[in-house]
Amino acid sequence: MSEAKKISEIKRKPEWIRVKAPVSKGYHETRNLMRGLKLNTVCEEAACPNIGECWTKKHTTVMILGDTCTRACRFCNIKTGKGNPVDPDEPANVAEMVVVTDMKHIVITSVDRDDLEDGGADQFVKVIAAVRAASPKTTIEILTPDFRNKPGALEKVVAAKPDVFNHNLETVPRLYTHIRPGARYFHSLNLLSRVKEIDPEIFTKSGIMVGLGESEVEVIQVMDDMRSADIDFMTIGQYLQPTKKHVAVEEFIKPDQFLKYKKRAMSKGFLHVSSSPLTRSSHHASEDFEVLQAARRAQLEKAESKRLEDAPIDIEEMKKHNPNYEF
Ligand code: SF4
Repeated sequence: MSEAKKISEIKRKPEWIRVKAPVSKGYHETRNLMRGLKLNTVCEEAACPNIGECWTKKHTTVMILGDTCTRACRFCNIKTGKGNPVDPDEPANVAEMVVVTDMKHIVITSVDRDDLEDGGADQFVKVIAAVRAASPKTTIEILTPDFRNKPGALEKVVAAKPDVFNHNLETVPRLYTHIRPGARYFHSLNLLSRVKEIDPEIFTKSGIMVGLGESEVEVIQVMDDMRSADIDFMTIGQYLQPTKKHVAVEEFIKPDQFLKYKKRAMSKGFLHVSSSPLTRSSHHASEDFEVLQAARRAQLEKAESKRLEDAPIDIEEMKKHNPNYEF
């Protein structure tokens, strides 16, 4: 394919996707803090459209293990190349950021590190431990790579007990070779299923981008696949083309279609679904975590009352408690 063909024009965004430029005082304070602690964020590296809103509220998604990814997904703005040396100060710096911003819920992600023997699992564990030690009340959400061909890496991270384990499927299986060539759909799905098998208390979460040429039927199939992997929380957001070199947007999905997806997904039994043009997996993560907890409590209470309803009646026990009643 010629270079001219590979470079696609960036489609003009519809009015429902426009976001304000990040100019607030809070945004600049967050930016300075991250620079001071030498921390990377996916907010900046992935050119997230929500950065103005999130950083004003001091909500960031820290990206550990450097700013260079060893994969080259066609939708992602993160730099590709040889991975950076692992920074031994990173766990302490992330913990300091959590303390300084009094963060209630942190989202930690990383670049893919196919060059490291454990895919970076050890650094995830160290960062989780440092945050727990510095701020025990902060809840921790991780958004991990797929740890493909890294035996033992997933188990190591799950043993560190994050509150939420997120790994994005990103798109429908048919588009993997085109959009996410280094990954495998069923490997990613299986990763999330394994998290639940190992530790059912951890909430699992996964998301896809739409507008890449997928059909509605394919999106619904992904919902079913996610439910069979026992995933608790699904996110669906519009893909936005970061630069002309990235894969083009096929379609800007309308807000009412996002709503339709949300209703359909909720009917399939997810504890929570976030589906809107600007949904990103870490957007409103703290509020979403509270929704997840409440939904699980309600589910457990329902299961308990069903258990009591279905329990066989012990007449002798009832007579003991109700001596004047005729059985
Ligand atoms: S949605 Fe996530 S990635 Fe985007 S700015 Fe907010 S925290 Fe960062």
